[in-house]
Amino acid sequence: MSQSPAVPSLAPETQAARGAVPVDSPYRDIVPPLHLATTFERAGDGSYPGGRVYSRDGSPAYDGPEALLKELEGGAAAALFASGMAAASAVLQALKPGARVVAPRAMYWALRNWMIQFAANWQLTLDFFADDAELAALLQRPADLVWLETPANPTWEITDIAAAAKAAHAAGARLVVDSTVPTPVFTRPLELGADIVMHSATKYLNGHSDVVAGALVTRAVDDFWQRIKTVRALGGAVLGPFEAWLLARGMRTLFPRVRTAAASAAAIASHFHGHAKVSLVLYPGLPSHPGHAVAARQMQGGFGAMLSLRIAGGEAAAKTVAARLQVFQRATSLGSVESLVEHRASVEGPGTFCPDDLLRLSVGIEATADLIADLEQALAGV
Ligand code: PLP
Repeated sequence: MSQSPAVPSLAPETQAARGAVPVDSPYRDIVPPLHLATTFERAGDGSYPGGRVYSRDGSPAYDGPEALLKELEGGAAAALFASGMAAASAVLQALKPGARVVAPRAMYWALRNWMIQFAANWQLTLDFFADDAELAALLQRPADLVWLETPANPTWEITDIAAAAKAAHAAGARLVVDSTVPTPVFTRPLELGADIVMHSATKYLNGHSDVVAGALVTRAVDDFWQRIKTVRALGGAVLGPFEAWLLARGMRTLFPRVRTAAASAAAIASHFHGHAKVSLVLYPGLPSHPGHAVAARQMQGGFGAMLSLRIAGGEAAAKTVAARLQVFQRATSLGSVESLVEHRASVEGPGTFCPDDLLRLSVGIEATADLIADLEQALAGV
């Protein structure tokens, strides 16, 4: 049973809400069935009339979510992975040993650490940049891959995707953007010149803290993309069909979830900007944020639902605030319907660039007034 491709002429909100609707089911299902087969029958002549051989090469359970993601990002093809890290690793493994990679200093910490280890093993040259000027300077020399994350964990620096794409291409590099935080609701990196978009689909795309998944969307189906697909099929880091099904279900509500959470995050950021117990609010939607002008240009309709608060009084005060919160739950991860708080420096550990007075907030879809009241009562205790 195949699933309907997304209809490109429809608005992204409509495509997402329709999800992956099966068209050739005898039952005319409104939601896709759970497609579990791992292997597919050959005809007597040795061919595969169903077009599938073995689900590690690509399960029919991926068709719906991959088609929808391809449309939402405006790409030529999409591929699901067993996690965001598996998706990112597939990009790195598609590079040839000796390649030069340029990546941001501020990015998802575990991926940055993995890149450093991977680069040593794969004999990659890896250079980090702190801002747009350093990125431009590093791209005066040839490179093979530029990695971006914008807004970037956990301080929400903004990188100008269009400028980075120009500079990357002039240096002979592909541009890959981890767009987990803005999601296609707010940013479409391929339209800004990126070559590949990466998602930890564990976060907003699924949105319910019950699936670990990753995704890549490419602008072109070229040799590099084929190498990525080979890494997925033969490296074997593939998503299970039930996880793909849950992801497809989560993506149907992507737009209202992300818009509600982002509106709440913006209200929280404005409320605590200038608060006596908060030394700094880090949120690209605030005009005082150093990346605000670029964010306002490349993010459409909102600035995302992630923000960080630097707590006056330092590390101990920040930990006390986290401990006192009752609506925000203390847990890692982000992008779900429930709000989460994390003392990020503790999680990142030795060598972190994260200030020790910083609390990272993943804003969910609860009532904004409850979230503000929760933060107020927690701050009142320090
Ligand atoms: N990219 C970002 C921005 C993330 O926040 C994360 C996870 O926290 C990842 C990538 C890795 O994704 P996963 O946990 O799905 O492997």
